[in-house]
Amino acid sequence: MPIGLYVHIPYCQHKCGYCDFNSHAGADRTEQARYVDALLLEMELWAARPEVAGEQVIAVFVGGGTPTLLEGEQLSRVLTGIRQRFNLAPDAEVTIEGNPGTVDVEGEKLQRAFDAGANRISLGVQARQRHLLERLGRIHDALQVEEAVAAARRAGFTNINLDLMYGLPGQTPADFRETVAWALSLDPTHISAYSLILEEGTPFYLAFEAGRLHLPPEEAEEQMFREGKALLEAAGFEHYEISNYARPGHWCRHNLIYWRNEHYLGLGCGAHSFLRLAAPLENLGAPRPGLTASRVQGGSEVETAPGRPGQHYRFWNLKHPGTYRAALERGVLPVEAGEAVGRRQEMAETMFMGLRLLEGVSDHRFAARFGVSISAVYGAEVERLQRQGLVEWEGGALRLTPRGLRLANLVWEAFV
Ligand code: SF4
Repeated sequence: MPIGLYVHIPYCQHKCGYCDFNSHAGADRTEQARYVDALLLEMELWAARPEVAGEQVIAVFVGGGTPTLLEGEQLSRVLTGIRQRFNLAPDAEVTIEGNPGTVDVEGEKLQRAFDAGANRISLGVQARQRHLLERLGRIHDALQVEEAVAAARRAGFTNINLDLMYGLPGQTPADFRETVAWALSLDPTHISAYSLILEEGTPFYLAFEAGRLHLPPEEAEEQMFREGKALLEAAGFEHYEISNYARPGHWCRHNLIYWRNEHYLGLGCGAHSFLRLAAPLENLGAPRPGLTASRVQGGSEVETAPGRPGQHYRFWNLKHPGTYRAALERGVLPVEAGEAVGRRQEMAETMFMGLRLLEGVSDHRFAARFGVSISAVYGAEVERLQRQGLVEWEGGALRLTPRGLRLANLVWEAFV
């Protein structure tokens, strides 16, 4: 089965107020270089394992954090390292994520990344208005976004994603319309539009709890979603996933692997993987039996085990860059913990991840994977959701209705 590859770069210039990603500010060039060395060691260990050795990699995503905080030479080492150690499909999608505030205007970094095999860039843009960017703690302004897009094009990138956000403190529907129209004027191939989620423990969350942060009313947020969708579709973008829009032929292949619940390997600190194990992970020194962790689906804690051959297995790396690196310097995989994913759980995940896609979950694909139809497993749930007007059958796939799109949480709950 082809797989995807995710590579985590855990460094940012400044921590944004809403962010709970595994990213750290303040690393110097030496620390970054040592981290890149560790990544190459991890690639080496995985490239020798049978789960990966024979498989074709169809999509790579170098994300973070801020990959464009690395030097051009470091980015190039990461991308070249992947190409040398893994079996990349000739047409593999290779994305690097970037923050417009860390893309040098001369474009040296992007040129190095493009020359080393990156063919897609995803820029964190979020909004056009300076006051909103400042409120979010972003380090760039609209002009830097325009310069970063121009630098990416000069380097050779034609496949460009821009990430936008709505439902921000102080944001009006008019602000969001202006942001979407401006983003379209930059002629990207893909636009993601995420609503702000207040993640526990972030400065935004704490300010909200203390009554110091005010979000737009629910109707305004719905209006932003509706108007953004209308503008993007009128410009020829396909709305293919709840938060994602693309020009035809430019759906994000890497994210499709997640939404279709297919296999991927995550490299770097805190990165998650989902693979069919060929040998227990304990052979390589980790995880320790009985270890628990809380960064699993839904944040619930699970007991973990090293895994057995043939099991579909989800696992995740040590979260801190220092402990991650120390494991690799000892010659062992930096896996913190993992859990076997049973058939029933895999079916449920295939449903609730797949329903994020507007094409829905193909009954044919489900049956080919599990040997049983969606209705045979979830007949009662599907009937109830149909009665509530939340899902429908279309062309052999179960998908969200327009009402289901707005109330997707109710649909996912039915399958968990
Ligand atoms: S740039 Fe991205 S990863 Fe870094 S702190 Fe901001 S939101 Fe988080």
